Amino acid sequence: MKYCTNCGAELKEGSEFCPKCGTKIGAKKPVSNGAVVNGGVQPKSKMAAGLLGIFLGCFGVHNFYLGFTGKAIAQLLISVLSCFILSPVSAIWGLIEGILILSGSMNVDAEGNPLGE
Ligand SMILES: [Zn+2]
Repeated sequence: MKYCTNCGAELKEGSEFCPKCGTKIGAKKPVSNGAVVNGGVQPKSKMAAGLLGIFLGCFGVHNFYLGFTGKAIAQLLISVLSCFILSPVSAIWGLIEGILILSGSMNVDAEGNPLGE
């Protein structure tokens, strides 16, 4: 027995439309991109966060992106306050975090929401 995806009414085998609400059977509703996860919170992109960490880690951009603002500011300040003398410290820190993010070792943002692809 099949059921209407819209109203849940029982459907006769082979029927094309729901007798109750008229929904076309078999016509799947288009799934919007960024399907609803965690009550509508759009997951942040693991790929974006990882690449930001690898390329812009010395500015803490990936941590700003993920919501780890304290860590992000630390990385940014290490670079800026040292006139970029110490920016390799932040850059390597960000690079490592970027790799951890891409490898799945860091897979949640600051609010604990899992990262998307
Ligand atoms: Zn129906």
